[in-house]
Amino acid sequence: MAEIIDGKAVAARFKYIAKTRAAKFESEHGRRVGLAVVRVGDDPASGIYVRNKVRACEECGVASYVHVFDETVPEDRLIEFLHELNADDKVDGILVQLPLPRHINERACIAAISPSKDADGFNAVNAGKLFLNERGGAVSCTPRGIIELIKSTGVPIAGKHAVVIGRSNIVGKPIAALLLNNDATVTVCHSKTQNLAEYTRRADILVVAVGKKHFVTADMIKPGATVIDVGMNRDESGLYGDVDFEAAKRVADYITPVPGGVGPMTVAMLILNTVDGACNE
Ligand code: NAP
Repeated sequence: MAEIIDGKAVAARFKYIAKTRAAKFESEHGRRVGLAVVRVGDDPASGIYVRNKVRACEECGVASYVHVFDETVPEDRLIEFLHELNADDKVDGILVQLPLPRHINERACIAAISPSKDADGFNAVNAGKLFLNERGGAVSCTPRGIIELIKSTGVPIAGKHAVVIGRSNIVGKPIAALLLNNDATVTVCHSKTQNLAEYTRRADILVVAVGKKHFVTADMIKPGATVIDVGMNRDESGLYGDVDFEAAKRVADYITPVPGGVGPMTVAMLILNTVDGACNE
């Protein structure tokens, strides 16, 4: 039976680090570290994510500034506002809650955030640093959190075969790069991959970021694997991961639950990225 990786407990350790650094910053600079959160429209899931992030800021002594725009805000107004936040001295990190309405180009908004205030690590400069394995850029929060969850098991990453299902810019690609930077042998699978289970059954580390409830079944998992479930699939009966957790935990050695796995780490890493950004200025 697998050991359950407790994302809340690991996240609490990182929030403590962020809180300690934020307090030191405040005593040295006479102001709190600040995170600006920009939200467009009233998507209920986005509302929950923003509330969780604000709560985590409060826990860590970080000031949060939430700006909500109407669904119809023009793209150029949003970009102009992001430039204002870039110039705002009390703001150390900026986060645009995704997804944005269809008429707004997400990449253009992310590109408008100064790389030094890019708390999510989605800006091309920071993504480029990750792919070049250069230090000093913000690493996107979910992948950064995933690596720490894997490290928390004590199982070494170097030399392991890691399989990532999903190739999105916010999860799949950056976690593949991070695993590679940590000396894993990495296979990235996606919707055009043929015979997916042939790859997943050879994974010592399996990261699943597909967005489909219980997509990975127990027979797709190598006995003894470490399984990281990124999925967050909501339906009327609750929140579910991409992995059939109850069956998979009988095969894997380590597995993350949903909720209580990757999600809390994403929030903790957002705060840490913001504090790191303030301290690096
Ligand atoms: P996304 O942009 O929709 O990407 C999904 C990926 O899954 C795509 O690369 C897609 O392949 C691949 N895929 C879809 N069907 C597949 C299939 N049948 N076989 C193999 N691959 C398949 O999603 P995302 O933003 O990466 O998010 C993935 C999940 O993680 C979602 O549930 C999201 O809510 C969750 N998430 C959680 C957190 C957290 O903090 N816990 C953070 C971010 C995201 P193609 O590229 O070929 O289309």
